Amino acid sequence: MIPEIEYIKETELDLALQHLASDKKVIPFAGGTDVLIELRKSKNPFDRKALLDVKGLGLNDIYIHSDTVIIGAASTHTEVEDNEIIKSKLPVLTKASSLIGSKQIRNRGTIGGNIINASPCADTVPALLLYDAQIVIRSLSEDRTVPLSEFITSPYETVLQKDELVTEIRAFPVAEDYGWGYYKLGRRGAVNISRMTVAALMKVDGEGKINEIRVSAGSVFPITSRISDVEKMLVGEKPKAEIFRRAGEIAAEKMIETSGRRWSTPYKESVVKELIVRVLNEAYSRCKNDDLS
Ligand SMILES: Cc1cc2nc3c(=O)[nH]c(=O)nc-3n(C[C@H](O)[C@H](O)[C@H](O)COP(=O)(O)OP(=O)(O)OC[C@H]3O[C@@H](n4cnc5c(N)ncnc54)[C@H](O)[C@@H]3O)c2cc1C
Repeated sequence: MIPEIEYIKETELDLALQHLASDKKVIPFAGGTDVLIELRKSKNPFDRKALLDVKGLGLNDIYIHSDTVIIGAASTHTEVEDNEIIKSKLPVLTKASSLIGSKQIRNRGTIGGNIINASPCADTVPALLLYDAQIVIRSLSEDRTVPLSEFITSPYETVLQKDELVTEIRAFPVAEDYGWGYYKLGRRGAVNISRMTVAALMKVDGEGKINEIRVSAGSVFPITSRISDVEKMLVGEKPKAEIFRRAGEIAAEKMIETSGRRWSTPYKESVVKELIVRVLNEAYSRCKNDDLS
């Protein structure tokens, strides 16, 4: 049962921020698909006195400003998935959003809530890391922008303070000739929270060599992150099976180095190798390069 808790809804950002800055303990929420589950699990896990609904604050615009895609933090996964700007500029995010949970979860859950919940299996995070996303944060006293790569500090922890709201996410599209891939491994037949996710963006030059590559992974490391060792190895190489296999091995080695060997390692090791190969093949198959045709 959900404990009784005060519900606050404001339509102006400053009024919402005043609640967060007050002595009263207030927790913001958007879709509530993570928060309400936590509330059910315990009497009041947040030890807070009120829930602040951010959905009336108009934080669900999606638009382009100076080549940057701005996504309101309270945009639902459905709004992100269906948005034409995101389809053309951030296709990996469209794909990630389309694979979240069920239609009902996508209709309620938001991109901001997904990032702020900071679960290692949050599906939008690997996609947004490829686009060097930044998180825009506001409080009554300060506005600040934090790279997504620094926003999540450990599983389920972020740099967000009690008096702050995330208002938008900024993402930086790449040129159209980049290929992309996104793979989510989930439990078959279930409402699919991921077991592992990998994402990649790849650009191939006129000689057929990889000249830019970005690879990220969720539920591989404690914090979803880019895999720089894999990226460094791939730059300058011709995309071929042997090189992609080596990339998978490096990702698996990095995973074991970071988290040690556990009961799940034999399974995860082979899965991460395979997913990296698949995502690189998928990204390469989408690379556009007139010099190669
Ligand atoms: C059945 C089910 C299936 C799911 N499947 C998936 C899945 O496949 N993939 C996946 O990634 N996730 C999945 N989830 C998790 C969840 O739906 C997503 O993480 C969702 O995006 C959370 O968004 P929300 O708006 O509901 O967050 P909320 O529950 O409203 O909030 C989550 C956290 O963010 C904070 N918060 C929210 N908005 C703001 C803001 N603007 N400023 C400051 N703090 C804020 C809240 O305080 C809370 O800490 C699933 C959940 C359920 C219940």
